[in-house]
Amino acid sequence: MQGKNGKEELRKKISDIISSIRWNEIGDESVSLLRDLIRVDTTNPPGDEYEAAILLQRYFNSFNIESRMVESDPKRVSIISDLKGEDTKLKPLILLSHLDVVPANPKEWSVPPFSGEVKNGYVWGRGAIDCKGLAVCEAVAMSLVKRLRIPIRRTIRYISVADEEMGGEKGAKFVVENENIEGFGVINEGGTGAILNGKKIYLPCFGEKGPLWLKIVAKGKSGHASMPHKENPNLILLSALSKISETNFGREFTKNFIKAIDVHVVRNSKMGTILSPLLSIVEKSKAVRKILGEILYLLLQSKPKLQAMVSNTLSITMIKSGYKENVIPEEAEAVIDIRLLPGYSYFDVIEKMKAIVNDPRISFEILTMHQFSESSPEEEFFLNIRYAVQSVYNYPFFPILATGFTDSRFFRSRNIPSYGLLPFFLTEEEVATMHGIDERISIENLIEGVKLMLSIILFNTVSEKDILGF
Ligand SMILES: [Zn+2]
Repeated sequence: MQGKNGKEELRKKISDIISSIRWNEIGDESVSLLRDLIRVDTTNPPGDEYEAAILLQRYFNSFNIESRMVESDPKRVSIISDLKGEDTKLKPLILLSHLDVVPANPKEWSVPPFSGEVKNGYVWGRGAIDCKGLAVCEAVAMSLVKRLRIPIRRTIRYISVADEEMGGEKGAKFVVENENIEGFGVINEGGTGAILNGKKIYLPCFGEKGPLWLKIVAKGKSGHASMPHKENPNLILLSALSKISETNFGREFTKNFIKAIDVHVVRNSKMGTILSPLLSIVEKSKAVRKILGEILYLLLQSKPKLQAMVSNTLSITMIKSGYKENVIPEEAEAVIDIRLLPGYSYFDVIEKMKAIVNDPRISFEILTMHQFSESSPEEEFFLNIRYAVQSVYNYPFFPILATGFTDSRFFRSRNIPSYGLLPFFLTEEEVATMHGIDERISIENLIEGVKLMLSIILFNTVSEKDILGF
């Protein structure tokens, strides 16, 4: 919310505000709120977010910030809290997170996963990063705006939802459909700050691939194992799976991915004047983008995580067959998880699969599918996010296409620009603890998270005029 001229002044004012805060105290407060939240077991399934939502409501109450619960089912609770801006015509900035967590097996962990233990400078527990850590940073940053009486034009809307880990039907989907949510932009999980080879970098995400989960069933003839025959469903299934897994279902350096790299990386670099016009040409031709996708795929041979950002992927995740050592069963089945790039249709992929398998004894059943979702990399909100985080720490900002999916898709379906950026700098080891063992967040990261979130909030909600006189 600023003109070009005052931008530097605004940046300076916001960084003055941020550096005037007593960060040690805010750190203690954030740690305590996160520990409390971790101690509420919101494992999904079955999912019960009520106590966690109450905890956040109490936190907001202590600063006289109003909030309300949205209940999709008994115990399936999301919380919404508004900090009103002066201009009610402006659409709110949405701070999104989720309250539920994936299961944790205490036997595998080095601390009890729902203890919220503080050890070696870390808060430990399921949800410490995903997503209670984010929920805390957003809540504390919002409360700071209120506490410091910073004048905001745009409303800040905090939304922490139920049921993200099981698809969002009882959380984000319900909230978006029943609360008539509008927004200037959503900041959510998805991308993250990272430490790669010892160097810090922002890896925000502007879009997500679409999942397609398919069940493949092979029908054959049962019989005694001592008399093998060719109608064995296991053989039929194995042959189909091996054909499918060797197929290229499309590789592409997608349009918005190129645009994102152009706008946020190339244009600001030394080579920008030469490379940027080239990228604009590449971006316009699907054929060229596909060739680039093939080249990148080959170059990234040793980096499957990056390869997945330029290709439609397929993983065989479950195989089920047989019930006795010496009996050939009648049926065998497998489940495959396919992730499609923006612009690719499920229908085409399934048709291609049928053609490759070319066997009437094989049938396909769709278990789950969602469309890919993207927000434009050129949105004012995304540019503001970059400016805001680089004002705090001037590390490189490299947009990515996420290979997983988040609740952002429900907001994108309502044309609300949504971006994923956990405001932490995580090592690969720390990233692996999300949905894994010994999930934890360093206290240092938690403080940085509140700082970065506050900066994102201020750059998107204050006006230059109000803030300079503040
Ligand atoms: Zn999450």
